[in-house]
Amino acid sequence: MFHFSVLFFANSSVLPSSFPMLWKLFYTSLSFKKTEKSVWVLHEPLISICVLAVSPEEHSTLIHVFQSPPPAKYLLPELTASDYGKKCVVIDLDETLVHSSFKPISNADFIVPVEIDGTIHQVYVLKRPHVDEFLQRMGELFECVLFTASLAKYADPVADLLDRWGVFRARLFRESCVFHRGNYVKDLSRLGRELSKVIIVDNSPASYIFHPENAVPVQSWFDDMTDTELLDLIPFFEGLSKEEEVYSMLHKLCNRSVGNYLTEE
Ligand SMILES: [Mg+2]
Repeated sequence: MFHFSVLFFANSSVLPSSFPMLWKLFYTSLSFKKTEKSVWVLHEPLISICVLAVSPEEHSTLIHVFQSPPPAKYLLPELTASDYGKKCVVIDLDETLVHSSFKPISNADFIVPVEIDGTIHQVYVLKRPHVDEFLQRMGELFECVLFTASLAKYADPVADLLDRWGVFRARLFRESCVFHRGNYVKDLSRLGRELSKVIIVDNSPASYIFHPENAVPVQSWFDDMTDTELLDLIPFFEGLSKEEEVYSMLHKLCNRSVGNYLTEE
């Protein structure tokens, strides 16, 4: 005995935020299609309608899919009361705050064991000069979030050692990035914060290619112990924390940086 189920679903261009759910539905209906029980009656740019002949078990699966809660809409949890009114600063890890390598170095600040394919490797981590002052001050001024394209099994223990003050309210890793044209992009629109109050601090322009107007570019750091970029940024961020929105100050910074790049090249 078969039930007939009729599925209506808007295509992703109409409801982008519902896309994961629609995709799940699409997959589910495809699996029915494999059994040649489904009949597509309409597939237009905006809406698709599918009629399925399903068994009672499949019918209950469909009901379960429809009734399961939608996937988390945003990457960040709700803003806490202590961060209310603060802007959100998304801070990169590698070559922004630290530099790590598998090559042993005598002056490593941390040595972090990381398991790769069943073997434990030691990762040698060097802290960028002034990273402690920078993180502490940023934690006072902003809601800070660590956002790295690295894997959690490396970045999480590094963050435990680096962030002794609990500055990072949340940590986001590779799986929270969008893989776009060969790069891991940090899509700030998925954070769940007002974009005019979000800043990303990152050494890699590819990371913020969706939101360049929200970026504070920093030079990639490897081992220069005379580097003062993080220290130099503190007064800029103190000013930015008092602004209503981030774009006007970041626009000025962007112009200055472009000027620097042009004179350097
Ligand atoms: Mg980086």
